[in-house]
Amino acid sequence: MLHWGYDEHNGPAHWKEVFPVANGDRQSPIDIKTEETNVEFDDTVNKSGSFQPNRSSLLSDFSCSDDEPTTAFVLTGGPLSGTYRLRQIHFHWGSNDEAGSEHAVDGMKYAAELHVVHWNSEKYSSFVEAARQSDGLAVMAVFLQIGECNPQLNKITDRLDTIRIKGKRALFTNFDPSCLLPKSLDYWTYFGSLTVPPLLESVIWIVLREPISVCSEQSAFVRLTAMRMDLGLTFWFKIPASQRQDIVQLAKFRSLLSTAEDEVACCLLRNYRPPQPLKGREVRRN
Ligand SMILES: [Zn+2]
Repeated sequence: MLHWGYDEHNGPAHWKEVFPVANGDRQSPIDIKTEETNVEFDDTVNKSGSFQPNRSSLLSDFSCSDDEPTTAFVLTGGPLSGTYRLRQIHFHWGSNDEAGSEHAVDGMKYAAELHVVHWNSEKYSSFVEAARQSDGLAVMAVFLQIGECNPQLNKITDRLDTIRIKGKRALFTNFDPSCLLPKSLDYWTYFGSLTVPPLLESVIWIVLREPISVCSEQSAFVRLTAMRMDLGLTFWFKIPASQRQDIVQLAKFRSLLSTAEDEVACCLLRNYRPPQPLKGREVRRN
């Protein structure tokens, strides 16, 4: 059986051999044609019509279990009905600064892309259950653009410097994922899928239009570190010994890891899936 990855022999072009839904009708990512997006849509479910990550919760109270109290970070509003609870964040990147994002905007790619994964905790009892429902997940995508070093990203990358041993875990007790978001939460939205196998078509995508900045050194660090931030606050790292010398800030992200639950992580020079056919779907914007 194919152990999927991003190499020649097991990359995105091969995923359909094991996951037929790869050819489905609502696959992600997509190339967003800005001229073809529809401005107005019914956002009356939320007065503001914008996303309001709940920043009032105390991170020290954040708990990872599915039955955690309502203190978790949540996403509401815009195209979402109900409350979506934060599950994990992860990044996608490329082997250089020219490409790395999964979504494209009018054919243009960014250096990297942050995914903030939420699940519909109002309607479903667990993340696993939600991931199989058409309205189960809401993923906020944030583009990373090469520019000034990002002090918020340093909160992650600095921490990586202290944990270079394979398999080390670190508990981030003072990290607020919403600090990574850009000033403007203007977005595009469409119905899509997970961008990694099993490619479940359960994601309401919220792609933020304003990128955040990352400097090339930060970008380089991404390339070299396998990292995973799961269940809100736990980072998982695995850095090849031969590459530990070279760690700098986007280099740090190039080795960030994006695997499904309980999968073995490995270092990746790139981990993005190319844009998939729109197949008649509508992309809306606020
Ligand atoms: Zn992702």
